[in-house]
Amino acid sequence: MSKRTLDAPVAPAIWPSLMAGETPLQAVTCYSPADQTEKTGCYEWANSVHVDAAVTKATASFTSWKNMPLPQRSRLVSQWLETIEGSAEQLAAQITQQQGKPLREANAEIGKSLREARMMIAFAANHGGYELPSSHAEQRNLCLRRPLGAIAAICPWNFPVMTPLRKVVPALLVGNTALLKPSEYTPAAALTLVKLADGILPDGVLQYVCGGADVAAQLVAHHNIKAVAFTGSVTTGQKIAAVAGANLTPVSLELGGKNAAILDRDCDLPAVLEQVFAAALQCAGQRCTAISRLIVHESHRDRVIELAKTYFAKLIAGDGRIERTSLGPITTAGQLKAIEGIVERAVSAGAELLLGGKRFAPDASSNGLFFQPTLLGCSNLQNPAVQEEVFGPVLTLETFNSPEEAIEKLNATKFGLTAALFSNDRHVQDLVQSQAEVGMLHINHGTTPDDNMPFIGTKNSGLGTGSVGRSSLDFFTREQSIYQR
Ligand code: NAD
Repeated sequence: MSKRTLDAPVAPAIWPSLMAGETPLQAVTCYSPADQTEKTGCYEWANSVHVDAAVTKATASFTSWKNMPLPQRSRLVSQWLETIEGSAEQLAAQITQQQGKPLREANAEIGKSLREARMMIAFAANHGGYELPSSHAEQRNLCLRRPLGAIAAICPWNFPVMTPLRKVVPALLVGNTALLKPSEYTPAAALTLVKLADGILPDGVLQYVCGGADVAAQLVAHHNIKAVAFTGSVTTGQKIAAVAGANLTPVSLELGGKNAAILDRDCDLPAVLEQVFAAALQCAGQRCTAISRLIVHESHRDRVIELAKTYFAKLIAGDGRIERTSLGPITTAGQLKAIEGIVERAVSAGAELLLGGKRFAPDASSNGLFFQPTLLGCSNLQNPAVQEEVFGPVLTLETFNSPEEAIEKLNATKFGLTAALFSNDRHVQDLVQSQAEVGMLHINHGTTPDDNMPFIGTKNSGLGTGSVGRSSLDFFTREQSIYQR
């Protein structure tokens, strides 16, 4: 993404628009990751006056929205989801154009987002307080859950529809109003989502706020923001937690991952690796739940390299808008450089470059940001490729010869998002289940989560309740004890 002011058309910094006719704001142009010469839109960035006005509007809309009976709120959210479904083609095109993933993955993202959001409507219908016995005959003791107010949803660039909906839908259902700040690299789909709510959700209930780190930081620090739901990098999460902590603002942080698949001695390698490589290379590895470490029984090592070579060779890299593409580009030039840097550091620190390892052009005319699917043999747990999140199509290959060694390796990073174990040995399954330091564990399948299960990390991968599932409604509400005589 590069900064420059265009004449027109420029998307507004806030939607619904707040301040017509004021002096032009900084406008930022986004470029396609598949072709860096192709503009994908130009976006005004909000300034501090806009941020304040948007928060004020969200705060003013809170009382009437929270007082609306839940079935009515749910009906409106449901209508909004229907319009999103009706605009799926446009949204998928925007995802692919700005984020880069193949169109079929963009469609799958929208489908999953809608299923999860509808599941949240069902959870919200069952979410609420309860009554407890009291110490006095004429007294009722009620434990209620109350919405918080205006909340900020701050999102990364890898899932431009799913991440916003995972935050905004539960927040709105329980009676909050929301300000959605998409990634500065992929704002198109978020703006469409919010525009689709026009005429369905009352004014001020959902707003889009465009900008970079400064705008997001202003939202986090604003005294009228009552909760911050964030997905992104660990470093940004730590900064947000520090500011929110000083204001005593609740935060939910969904952060990075370094996700391992353990392949035990008895597993059917070709079948298992089909799933594992798909989980590693979808979205060109730019998923927080992408498998990025293969911890395999030492007897499997040579065969894994052979099968990886075959799988990687079958991938068709290119623009995600072309139907045959199965490996899209890296979303930003900065991310491509970071991937390149980590692979170089890993090799200097002793990793064996088994496959890939370089940026490349899928065809002679390509101006895209592509990185080869890469396999690095790592015997040292301290290697940067084992310890750091790469967020690209890069896998380490590590070996074990006892279940205890496998679990020790699994837990040896600061991350704790997701892991997969492929083993038919009940003892190994039980050991990994009891010892794995991860928020989500998959036994004998890849790392695709179900639509009703908490999406949650531990250690440096997250803080607070999960998104999706019942507990996300807890995050967007506070408990209140009432004694009534
Ligand atoms: P990022 O942390 O750079 O940016 C995420 C968002 O935070 C953007 O909207 C950005 O504008 C905003 N931001 C930046 N600085 C800020 C500050 N000081 N205060 C407030 N907001 C600020 O992350 P990214 O590069 O967009 O996304 C990639 C990262 O996201 C990876 O680490 C990945 O693992 C993580 N991620 C995690 C999950 C999960 O569910 N655990 C899902 C997707 C992505």
